[in-house]
Amino acid sequence: MPEEKGKKENKNLVPRPPVVVVLGHIDHGKTTLLDFIRKTKVAEKESGGITQHVGAYEIEIGNPPSPKATEGQRKITFIDTPGHEAFSQIRSRGAKAADIAILVIDATESVKPQTKEAILHIKKAGIPLIVAINKMDKPGADPKKAARELVRDDILIESMGGKIPAVEVSAKTGQGVPDLLELILLVAEMENLKTDISKPAKGVVIECCMTSQRGTMATLILNEGKLKPGQIIGTSSAYGKIKILENFRGEQISEASPSQPVLVLGFEKVPKVGEEFKIFSGVEEAKANIKTKERGGPEVINVEEGQKVLNLILKADVVGSLEAIEEVLKNLPQEKVILRILKGEVGEINETDIKLAVQAKAKILGFRVKANPIAESLAEREKIRIMKFDVIYDLVEGVRKYMEKLFEPETVRTDLGKIKTLIVFLTDKNRQIVGGKVIEGHVKKGTSIEVVRDGEIKGKGRMINLQRNKKDIETAPKGEEVGILYEGNEKIEKDDLLVIYTEEKRKI
Ligand code: GDP
Repeated sequence: MPEEKGKKENKNLVPRPPVVVVLGHIDHGKTTLLDFIRKTKVAEKESGGITQHVGAYEIEIGNPPSPKATEGQRKITFIDTPGHEAFSQIRSRGAKAADIAILVIDATESVKPQTKEAILHIKKAGIPLIVAINKMDKPGADPKKAARELVRDDILIESMGGKIPAVEVSAKTGQGVPDLLELILLVAEMENLKTDISKPAKGVVIECCMTSQRGTMATLILNEGKLKPGQIIGTSSAYGKIKILENFRGEQISEASPSQPVLVLGFEKVPKVGEEFKIFSGVEEAKANIKTKERGGPEVINVEEGQKVLNLILKADVVGSLEAIEEVLKNLPQEKVILRILKGEVGEINETDIKLAVQAKAKILGFRVKANPIAESLAEREKIRIMKFDVIYDLVEGVRKYMEKLFEPETVRTDLGKIKTLIVFLTDKNRQIVGGKVIEGHVKKGTSIEVVRDGEIKGKGRMINLQRNKKDIETAPKGEEVGILYEGNEKIEKDDLLVIYTEEKRKI
């Protein structure tokens, strides 16, 4: 969020609560932690007792109240959609929604692929990090191991002599959670989070949906200014007049302040997660801000000599994952191989995807989606490779490896000729002496042999020696009868067809 750090005294600058995001590997306890904090810190104050899920909630820590702290300094906003996919989706449009990240690590499992992925996201976002070593109530919890493993990802927590704060918690029993909350406030204090409330409101869309009863609902977090009903609000894809403002408890409010999660009713259509919003003087101005072209067709790419283009078709389970993957792929180094995402869509892999892959020589990447049976068999027929993943980190690694493979020397095969086997003279371990007739092309000593029987490739080997009338020769043309010394695992039989070929590694 834009801070006004370092400027001369500005009376409108007020402290604002930190916005916190929770990241970490699947099943390490993100949701449980967020639930625990919500239940213990929110429910007690509620009138109706029901908290709606709007993608974020706010807590106030009053126990024990710090005598120095102002109201704004005792509040914390949690983005309630755990996981780095949501986080990077929010960030994918350039918005900075969170001020502090909590990295949750299961003390019994330590660092896992998504922990690493989360670390990358946090580093990229450039926000401070607090490590929450979770599941401390479980037997086998080994926080030291987690601390040691984190060092490999350049995360040096305090107990390892580093600067990154860490706390041992149990999201189940609540052990250590108060310390975690205090730590968040401490980090926020050091960050000196301030905002100008006299400026026109702006911030980030963090969740949105369309409901039949209430129309579009968008959860926003304000960075700056104050939001009020009646204002014209807009992002680059949607605008509207704020009809109703609600806090995350579902209570109508007349004003929303910075860092406060707020539900806005009144957008004409659903804005996109991660878009920045601002306030406009009128509808015309808001309309003018709309960017009509969204995803555009396949872009024109300038390919320089020595560069290759890898076409990708990306299918994912939800928009969040899709956008997160696109974002990560975009950031892969592409000096040699340029990645072009021909199509990025939510849903299972279908025949259209396979057909497009055939046409464009594209690879299909599926993230937490299946291919339908027709697509599966079509892909098999067309020899289209579908790569499926459940973890973004693995997907990116898969693509990276494939990009590297594109630059490995390619093996080029040249068929020289064919021999029809007439007789097998001798068989010894993996060597045989075989007599046959060259029936096509010519054959050459030192080349490769493919053994074909009844039209089926049975195995491969090498031609160690070539003879005619018991004399060594280098080559023999069509029509000649030859003897060969063959080496290979498949035994040659009478009447086999031996395809003679060479293989050459060619750098592309
Ligand atoms: P997420 O995928 O990171 O959101 O993980 P969840 O919050 O869904 O937790 C995964 C599983 O771990 C659930 O069965 C939780 O009940 C369990 N769990 C989470 N935190 C703790 C904890 O501190 N202690 C214990 N014993 N179990 C936990």
